[in-house]
Amino acid sequence: MKDNQRIVVKVGTNVLTTAEGNLDLETLGNLVDQIAQLQGAGYQMLLVSSGAVGAGKSVFNFKDTGDKIASRQVYSSIGQILLIHEYYQRFREHHIFCSQVLATKEDFRGKTHYANMSHCIENLLSQGVVPVINENDVVAIDELMFTDNDELAGLMAQMVKADRLIILSNVKGIFNGAPDHPESKIISFIQAQEISSISEFIQEQTSSGGRGGMVSKFNTARKAIRKGIQVQIAHGKVPNILLRLLAGEEIGTTFVPRD
Ligand code: GLU
Repeated sequence: MKDNQRIVVKVGTNVLTTAEGNLDLETLGNLVDQIAQLQGAGYQMLLVSSGAVGAGKSVFNFKDTGDKIASRQVYSSIGQILLIHEYYQRFREHHIFCSQVLATKEDFRGKTHYANMSHCIENLLSQGVVPVINENDVVAIDELMFTDNDELAGLMAQMVKADRLIILSNVKGIFNGAPDHPESKIISFIQAQEISSISEFIQEQTSSGGRGGMVSKFNTARKAIRKGIQVQIAHGKVPNILLRLLAGEEIGTTFVPRD
């Protein structure tokens, strides 16, 4: 059953950074261990990882010129190396190769770019490689930019016809009230037909490190379940989160597509 089931895992900046703003190598390593285990169990795994800008900030001091675009370019250009270097080493401990794939919105618009990207990903997967995908922050500016990596992960999941998209962030899921209110509870399951009624519970604010917030996760989930992809949103620092989700444990919020 698991053979060739495709899982796209999206990891947000806040999952991959510590409170001090450094790369959280323990969490990164744990996620790689789990992805390796799942690949060993027969799943085809793709990772959409944020954290390049955060990693760049943790090591480099950009002399502020007031140019926000330049600082994002410089930080991501430095940080992406750190990030992919860590992934490479961690995956090699499991005798798995990972690879770097950087995308802009343009790659999903034009037929040629789309076909090239899809061809590359298919070949990586068939060779047992785990693609580690991020936005190409160096050139993704204005209209070339995704809303955030949630959108990129959703597009990737659709491109590879994934069975499941798991979005790991620093929130535990979608709550039926303000997430910090003691009486708010996580909504465990959202069926495709009730998705419109859920939108009132979606909080606008975004977290400190990354660009995405619950609105974009919700929009990504809404589009993906229309294509028959199950979407799960959960806290990325929960121990063994991927293994537990795949074992069917009820953690976070699951969007259930129609059959
Ligand atoms: N691509 C950005 C990074 O790697 C993150 C974008 C987002 O927060 O969604 O830092």
